[in-house]
Amino acid sequence: MPEYISTRGGAPTVTASQAIINGIAPDGGLYVPNAWPTLNLDWVQLAQADYQTIANLVFTAFLSDFTPAEIDAVIKAAYGDQWDTPTIAPLHTTGDTTILELFHGPTLAFKDVALQALPHLLTTAAKKAQIKNDILILAATSGDTGTAAMAGFGDVEHTQIVVFYPEVGVSEIQRQQMVTEPAKNAHVIALTGNFDDAQTAVKTLFADTELAEQLADHNIQFSSANSINIGRLIPQISYYFYAYAQLVANQTIKAGDEIEIVVPTGNFGNVLAAYYAQQIGLPVARFVVASNENNVLTDFFTTGTYDRRREFHVSSSPAMDILVSSNLERLLYFASGQNSALIKTYMTDLADQGFYTLAATTKAGLTRFNAGFASNDDTAATINNTFKQADYLLDPHTAVGVHVAQQVGAPLGQHRLIAATASPFKFPQTVLAALEQTPKHGFAGVEQLAQVTNRAIPSQIATLFDQPILHKQVISAEAIKATLQTELF
Ligand SMILES: *Cc1c(COP(=O)(O)O)cnc(C)c1O
Repeated sequence: MPEYISTRGGAPTVTASQAIINGIAPDGGLYVPNAWPTLNLDWVQLAQADYQTIANLVFTAFLSDFTPAEIDAVIKAAYGDQWDTPTIAPLHTTGDTTILELFHGPTLAFKDVALQALPHLLTTAAKKAQIKNDILILAATSGDTGTAAMAGFGDVEHTQIVVFYPEVGVSEIQRQQMVTEPAKNAHVIALTGNFDDAQTAVKTLFADTELAEQLADHNIQFSSANSINIGRLIPQISYYFYAYAQLVANQTIKAGDEIEIVVPTGNFGNVLAAYYAQQIGLPVARFVVASNENNVLTDFFTTGTYDRRREFHVSSSPAMDILVSSNLERLLYFASGQNSALIKTYMTDLADQGFYTLAATTKAGLTRFNAGFASNDDTAATINNTFKQADYLLDPHTAVGVHVAQQVGAPLGQHRLIAATASPFKFPQTVLAALEQTPKHGFAGVEQLAQVTNRAIPSQIATLFDQPILHKQVISAEAIKATLQTELF
């Protein structure tokens, strides 16, 4: 049963619960398991299992210091009727391709899978560690993380959640989801400027020792809900096993057949979960890493050099507009043969020079990875073609995955699984434009999309624009600390 160590080798070994509480390791590295757990993968049996049963198997394998009763309680709280389908992650198969729909949770994006579980993992872990403080989650969000974190942490006892979002760059639906958040422990504040400004301002809060002391005086401590927390990664491993088991159940594949997994990628968390699944026994021949115009990962997997010194593009798939994919560090750790000294060099080079080049031995560990990217035009064309030819409606992020899947060529004899990361109804304006319509604003756009495509409006947003606006503050980055103090104390 695994414990957790830092990718950079300079932090003590900790239990799963301590790794979840810490978020990032004290040496700046990311927590990884020190050994892969062994799973009993009886596919005939798993083919009959529901989502919760498979999630239980995966959580149990990785969370060695959680009791069975604790894991049961987390799964029950995370994967209940806040999902719009009892299967949690339904599959849509046509020919040799299956779309794995991960957007049936409260905020219509795949982040719900992890963020419905994380608050319960975190509060359970805090109880084990006899932490009496309330946990404060601070997030800067460009959209999906903030809404999903609030939906997860909202009204969870002993937690507070504060979300800062940029005035510029979030979609109308995302903004509405945030400003109407009713949970008593949720604080939502707009910052003038863009996402980078918001993120920089939030980082200064995490580093502020005076603030940390004030929080401690009020029995509050920081924790992190971003995707470097191992508590976000583990829940995501479950759906790859669930999807495979369902493919076996539907006789799309035979138990033991290798599949190909295509993932539209930003911070590399979702595709890393697929890789972890493969490391513990999921038969996967190839991973396809799909990016938008911020194609730093495409270049990386092609050349072996990671180079963030490039222009940042605001794309039509905003949740993937990222130049530094933090979770890649966890892949490189294993690809390098657990060489933490080497990982430290790569990350130091990235911080100091803006790039690093893999040693040949590390690159050799990445042979299963393929990569490609889609421009905004490619993305729009894919939404349009897929709707017209296959009567399937893609959101812009998933469309990037579908485009890149087509670009890298037919699967090599394997069945292809594409992770669908958001509902098209979360980005109605982009989807409508791709369908050659003139998009209407706000909820009118949602209604227009439903009408044009003859689809029902998801219940999660059906009444979103009728809700009262509860969070109206807009502040400048300089006022962030004072505002937080007023909100909390
Ligand atoms: C966050 C997000 C992504 C990127 O996921 P990573 O795990 O960061 O690679 C892709 N699509 C959507 C809709 C997202 O919200």
